Amino acid sequence: MLSLRLTRLACLLLCMTALHQTHAQDLARRLFDAHEAYKDTTFTHRRFKHKAIVPVLSTLGNPLSVSQVGTSAEGRSLNLVRAGTGPIPVLLWSQMHGDEATATMALFDLFRFLQASGDGFDDMRQTILAKTTLHMLPMLNPDGAERFQRRTSADIDMNRDALRLQSPESVVLKNLQQTLKPLVGFNLHDQNPRYSVGNTGKQAVVSFLATAYDQDRTINDVRRRSMQLIVGMNRVLQQFIPGQVARYDDDFEPRAFGDNIQKWGTTLILIESGGQVGDVEKMSIRRLNFVAILTALNAIANETYGNETPAERVVAEYQAIPENGRALFDLLIRNATVVRNGKPYTIDLGINRYEVNTDSARAFAYRSTIDDLGDLSTFGGLTEFDATGLTLTPARLYPDTLASPTDLRRLDVAKLRQEGIVAVKVQTAKRGSFPQQPLHVLWEGKLPGRPPGLGQVATFLLKEGNSIKKVVLNGFLDESGNGIID
Ligand SMILES: [Zn+2]
Repeated sequence: MLSLRLTRLACLLLCMTALHQTHAQDLARRLFDAHEAYKDTTFTHRRFKHKAIVPVLSTLGNPLSVSQVGTSAEGRSLNLVRAGTGPIPVLLWSQMHGDEATATMALFDLFRFLQASGDGFDDMRQTILAKTTLHMLPMLNPDGAERFQRRTSADIDMNRDALRLQSPESVVLKNLQQTLKPLVGFNLHDQNPRYSVGNTGKQAVVSFLATAYDQDRTINDVRRRSMQLIVGMNRVLQQFIPGQVARYDDDFEPRAFGDNIQKWGTTLILIESGGQVGDVEKMSIRRLNFVAILTALNAIANETYGNETPAERVVAEYQAIPENGRALFDLLIRNATVVRNGKPYTIDLGINRYEVNTDSARAFAYRSTIDDLGDLSTFGGLTEFDATGLTLTPARLYPDTLASPTDLRRLDVAKLRQEGIVAVKVQTAKRGSFPQQPLHVLWEGKLPGRPPGLGQVATFLLKEGNSIKKVVLNGFLDESGNGIID
């Protein structure tokens, strides 16, 4: 009899769990579909600066209030946006690394969402505002954002400054945690877009971490709550990006903010925006941040995360999310032939493209390199090409140095490419003046004189006999080089 009752109870709990999970899935789908309505149109690319966010902050109204809580080393304001009157304090901050801007855009979308009404989300919004008090700090490192660099203007990596607190921005973050004592903190970053989900070869679009707070990676109630919220966010994101959510490894980093904030008693959630092919400015990942953050806020406000993911199951479910792997190149060329010392070798080429800031406020250029070479059969590429039967051949540089972008327009690019001339050296150009060129525009360096090897620029030809079958242009296969530099 007793066992029958227990079985019934277990069934009931399971049903409740399923119900809560279904509700979260539906809500996430509705938020995803509605995101466009809340998208702050100020932000169309990741290289926006502090001067772009300040005017937007000044327009925010009920139920949001904005106050300056500090100043960066170079005098830029650090602003806290508050909403809600509830007993559960939640702290969210973005862009402690200046070149990790995706979640800042999502926070501004969240601001617009919180100000809206009559859109079918009123119940959810009112619950969040009644049960929690949200403290949101977009762009914690505005001096880094100014240069679009990870570190602060004093070259400090804020995420290794939680102990020394040498940068004023770090002091602000620690003070907020110590005075607000948030139940949950959201630490919002971008990660290397070439991370894979485990060794699946799939790109990690979003990664999470329930940060460890000690070397033993102990799971206490504070950290268990991180896992519950992350498992919930992962579950809803799977419907938009199946198999493309990963988790960061949880090695304890004693100098990092996430690890320390978890140690100081705030449930810490790290969200890392990764990459997605065809979404260089990460607008889709911004939308996924919006959905994930609101999913978690709703679960915090309703205290349903424990119902969605019961404590006894959470560790297994959390650990079932694959860790970030390092198995992807931007471009992987397989089975090319290269001749070295008169002897042919079969090689795969692992090519990556790195963003380089330019003088232009929003544009950037790519610098590509051949980062690995040899048998890369255990790796994958975001783009792949099978070069079986094709031989790696050096490309040629246009013989004259051009004085301006106008000169470049006069060239018969198609004809030059037929002759294997795919790069041109320019004299006076400013970086960023040559977007979308069908040639590799070189500022300083030169092309390798023989088939390029490890560490060299990925501009070369793939030939079958004397015929050019493919052109690789600064790491792009048969495309324009997209603002190429050397
Ligand atoms: Zn970061």
